[in-house]
Amino acid sequence: MIQANDKMSGDARRRAYLNALGIDVWVPRGGDAAADTDEAEEASLAQPVAADWDGLRSQVAKCTLCSLHKSRTQTVFGVGSQSADWMIVGEAPGAEEDRRGEPFVGRAGKLLDEMLRAVGLQRNAVFIANILKCRPPNNRDPLVEEASSCRAYLERQIELAAPKLILAVGRVAAQHLLGSDAPVGRLRGQKHYLNAGQLPVVVTYHPAYLLRSPTQKRKVWQDLCVARQIMQRSDQ
Ligand code: SF4
Repeated sequence: MIQANDKMSGDARRRAYLNALGIDVWVPRGGDAAADTDEAEEASLAQPVAADWDGLRSQVAKCTLCSLHKSRTQTVFGVGSQSADWMIVGEAPGAEEDRRGEPFVGRAGKLLDEMLRAVGLQRNAVFIANILKCRPPNNRDPLVEEASSCRAYLERQIELAAPKLILAVGRVAAQHLLGSDAPVGRLRGQKHYLNAGQLPVVVTYHPAYLLRSPTQKRKVWQDLCVARQIMQRSDQ
């Protein structure tokens, strides 16, 4: 296990730590963004990430790695099956999620439930998490350093759940997961993988966006069909 007082550089330590977890290092967004994350990465690795679900939940609940801990009502860890084949990854808690401690509630959450039911899945059969576990003020986009600080928690959730597929909903989730600046419209419909090609990632629109742009539902249905096909092939 990598300890905080190791003499390795922040980047080398992070890579060694993630390699020890068997998790590929996500591609940094490059240039200034990469430089901005150094400090956050140092902070995020100052303590090892808990090895099991209970420990991880407890660690997240007490986390003060980024400034969002000051404004949150509570952390939003994630919900669902801890051995789910499908993992849904969104952006960050909104006001309602911050109040209730659960991701994807309210109208967007109901629409996500409908999306899942359309491919034969109940909400409790998948695991739902976010890039950030704490609500950014005024629902602004996560900052690079916040996402970097929080990343090890999501990586551990992915490792513990060991899903067969990740459905990245919305621009922020897709860009952070894939280390891309491309819009969802370009990322969806392409093949993406994490963990050295072992874990497929399907990108689609966020249900909150669909509430504003219902004509895009047809595209989401296409994305869900792609995800279902991937899962069906993995079961053969
Ligand atoms: S957003 Fe993540 S890193 Fe920041 S305080 Fe919350 S749990 Fe910690």
